[in-house]
Amino acid sequence: MHSSPPIRGDLTPELLQTSQWTDEQVSAAGIPIHDIPFVTVGGGIGSFVTVDYLRIYGVPTDRMRVLSNIDTPWETYEYLTRVSQIPRPERIRSDSSSRPDNLWGFPSYALEEAWREKRLSHLWQIATEPILNDYWTPRAGTVFRGLEREAKRISYWDMLVKGQVRMVRKRVGGGYFTILTPPDGLSETRRVAFRSQYVHLAVGYPGLKFLPDLQDFRERHRDYTRVVNAYERHEHVYEALKTRPGVVMVRGGGIVASRVLQRLMDDREEFGLQTQIVHIFRTFVTGSHGPNVFMRRKGGHGWAYQGFNYPKSVWGGQLKARMRKLEGEDRKKLYQDIGGTNTPKRRRWQQQMAKGRRENWYHAFQGMVDKVEPGPDGRLISHVRSSNGRIQQYVSDFIIDCTGLEADIAEHRVLADLLQHGGAERNPLGRLEVERHFEVKGTASGDGALYASGAATLGGYFPGVDTFLGLQIAAQEIADDLARRGFCKKMGPFRSTSQWFKWAFNKAV
Ligand SMILES: Cc1cc2nc3c(=O)[nH]c(=O)nc-3n(C[C@H](O)[C@H](O)[C@H](O)COP(=O)(O)OP(=O)(O)OC[C@H]3O[C@@H](n4cnc5c(N)ncnc54)[C@H](O)[C@@H]3O)c2cc1C
Repeated sequence: MHSSPPIRGDLTPELLQTSQWTDEQVSAAGIPIHDIPFVTVGGGIGSFVTVDYLRIYGVPTDRMRVLSNIDTPWETYEYLTRVSQIPRPERIRSDSSSRPDNLWGFPSYALEEAWREKRLSHLWQIATEPILNDYWTPRAGTVFRGLEREAKRISYWDMLVKGQVRMVRKRVGGGYFTILTPPDGLSETRRVAFRSQYVHLAVGYPGLKFLPDLQDFRERHRDYTRVVNAYERHEHVYEALKTRPGVVMVRGGGIVASRVLQRLMDDREEFGLQTQIVHIFRTFVTGSHGPNVFMRRKGGHGWAYQGFNYPKSVWGGQLKARMRKLEGEDRKKLYQDIGGTNTPKRRRWQQQMAKGRRENWYHAFQGMVDKVEPGPDGRLISHVRSSNGRIQQYVSDFIIDCTGLEADIAEHRVLADLLQHGGAERNPLGRLEVERHFEVKGTASGDGALYASGAATLGGYFPGVDTFLGLQIAAQEIADDLARRGFCKKMGPFRSTSQWFKWAFNKAV
């Protein structure tokens, strides 16, 4: 009999069980070691803005590596926005100066679109927002074009190493080993190790979270086409509605629910469809609400309205300053006060929903869904419990779950390993606890430091982490901390100005 040769350079039981590795242990396992002072894991927008800052601070490409399973920094973001109904020509949520490709935020996206399209209306809108007009926000395509230009300018692809990161472990003597599984056929060994003094994690969302009743229905009936999550491909739903009239149940009250509704309503208008929409809100907002007069938010017809996902002062005002001082339960309480699902109040959406209510094809209700089951005619029956305890049944042809991406951080292998072996702790919201400069608490290793930014760190001293601007604020804190540790030079006003000119003229850093 012919047995296949043992896989070379793999993790051994000894390595798996040891929280801190020596160089000898890794070499003895046959895992090749690459020495790179700084690695960032993820390769999405969070990794991109971090290496962008560091390149502009003066770090050469050969001192940094981006370890990622995607080819371009915007790939995952573009996938998630596209499936949740924001294709390139549509507008995203964040504002004109939240530019992940430009750390100065100037010129803003509005100026850029006005210049490129030779249209002053963009400038008029931004000058009159949000009173006379909705907030101006950039097209998704504008964001991707800018990221591509900046990625080329900083030689992003010279730093990219493709593969799946399996874990980050502390190294005896300081620093870390980051273990990467390269794509099949690209390496002679099953794993490679990056030995570095600094590691940054920006792994995005740990995973999709399905509502339990929907997950249950999908698994029991093996039906993944009629009950869908807005963050998965579900174009077939819109296509099916073009071939015959149907009822769609939408669940959730955030911006993704708004976008999905807009798509259903746009298609209704454009193709003369008869789609009926049943919208279930777990929390049905009927008017202005909030913990006190200073923190009120508008609302109505089920929705809580807010321009951006948090009040603007979390990025640079009084809420940022307040949160920075809070610990434990106090921090959690403030998160509860300022958080909650909300969506921007855009005029077009308001008009479309008002029309739907008038013409009796858009119906919104409060309720918690107890279970979903197939009816006698094969359609979907949702048993919805309202706040007074009454159960109502709603029949639909499709259910689109727009409730979230918020899986537990322990569902991500690298983060779970970090909690188990790396000394990381959870913050008051259950995510990774980071310092004010985004170092993960408990993970220091000799003179090495491990940082994290993005959704995995929500609940820390800075609330806006999972946004472009938040990722940039984190990147700046990290770059400043690295400058203090001597990894790069500090950035003063003169170098910043000269770097801005390089950005403006698209000259390499
Ligand atoms: C639909 C949607 C719309 C949004 N709109 C806005 C907006 O308008 N404005 C705004 O400011 N923010 C917005 N956000 C929030 C946020 O800015 C983006 O999600 C942003 O992409 C987050 O960047 P990130 O680097 O944390 O995650 P991502 O961009 O998702 O990148 C993380 C990457 O890490 C990779 N990865 C994970 N684990 C591993 C591993 N073990 N090995 C290798 N690679 C790994 C993943 O594949 C992923 O590609 C939006 C989010 C969503 C979901």
